[in-house]
Amino acid sequence: MLDCLLRHGIKVSYSCKMGTCQACLLKAEGCELPAGTQTGLPKNLKLENYFLSCLFYPDSDIKVSQTTTSSLFKKAVVVEKNKFTDDILQLILEPLDVFEFYAGQFVNLKAEGETVRSYSLASNPNESERLELHIKRMRNGWMSNWLFDELLVGDQVEYQGANGTSFYTKDNSDKPMLLIGTGTGLAPLLSIIRYALSVGHRGEIILYHGTRHATGLYLNSQLIALADKVKNFSYFACLSGEIEFDGTLHGRANDLALQKYKDLTGWQVYLCGEPEMVKKTQRCAYLAGANLDEIHTDPFNLRDLRKRRRK
Ligand SMILES: Cc1cc2nc3c(=O)[nH]c(=O)nc-3n(C[C@H](O)[C@H](O)[C@H](O)COP(=O)(O)OP(=O)(O)OC[C@H]3O[C@@H](n4cnc5c(N)ncnc54)[C@H](O)[C@@H]3O)c2cc1C
Repeated sequence: MLDCLLRHGIKVSYSCKMGTCQACLLKAEGCELPAGTQTGLPKNLKLENYFLSCLFYPDSDIKVSQTTTSSLFKKAVVVEKNKFTDDILQLILEPLDVFEFYAGQFVNLKAEGETVRSYSLASNPNESERLELHIKRMRNGWMSNWLFDELLVGDQVEYQGANGTSFYTKDNSDKPMLLIGTGTGLAPLLSIIRYALSVGHRGEIILYHGTRHATGLYLNSQLIALADKVKNFSYFACLSGEIEFDGTLHGRANDLALQKYKDLTGWQVYLCGEPEMVKKTQRCAYLAGANLDEIHTDPFNLRDLRKRRRK
């Protein structure tokens, strides 16, 4: 449906086109929605007949509306913008309304016009209602460059969420956790770690953060300090490019983690960031004994604009 609407010049927000980001929400009027078109949506949106237009393949006429999607967005004020590195930004937003989320979820930010992109929350839901986001600047990327260069402290932005089913719950506080993230895939893992420690998680917490170059290990010293302080937390920094300083492992984070942790029976596994890594590692973790419903995935699916003309 999304492709059809776009082909006919109808403006619909979208980003990943895979049912992950939930940016292309529409509302169906007076019809039954096929199974799978509401995957991952919160209960209230399901009951209101919202669905993901990228997952809907209609076989008869259907009436849809998008007018009400604006009511799903709330406002927040930009209170801080800090650069972790030249191309990774920490953005802190103060919501104007009550905001609740689970550790590991993401929000959708709306820019001027209807551009919507998803960003994971790094904040601890136990400590702050603020939204801490980590944004990677993408070459020619519309939203990430707008957030870096145009959005100012004091400005208001619209956000929708929190979304996503890859989150931590207290019921698992005795279980060991393996968290693997690439790039800004660290953000939701940080939220999970912060929250898990604040609720007294007793199982082991093992974090593998991978990037190509050392600049991508943007919280290296803070994570080393945390691992020194907290007995059940271990941190492994992994570089797939050249090793630029001591203390890092050489190779891809997912390969290194699964080489070391060969039996994942009874583990909670969290995989965030680069979609191919997430997909491949989900399969490997399952083969290593983790239950499918204990492997939580958050792939940062991007719009691949390389094959298309930019608008
Ligand atoms: C659930 C979810 C959570 C996310 N969380 C975060 C987060 O916490 N932090 C974060 O920085 N991002 C996150 N993302 C990605 C984010 O939503 C945007 O897609 C990203 O910021 C790019 O948006 P943009 O508008 O700048 O780029 P767009 O204008 O959408 O362009 C995408 C850019 O990437 C290039 N590109 C597309 N596919 C590829 C590819 N496979 N390889 C190389 N280049 C490619 C395009 O050519 C273009 O330059 C998340 C995505 C999802 C779905």
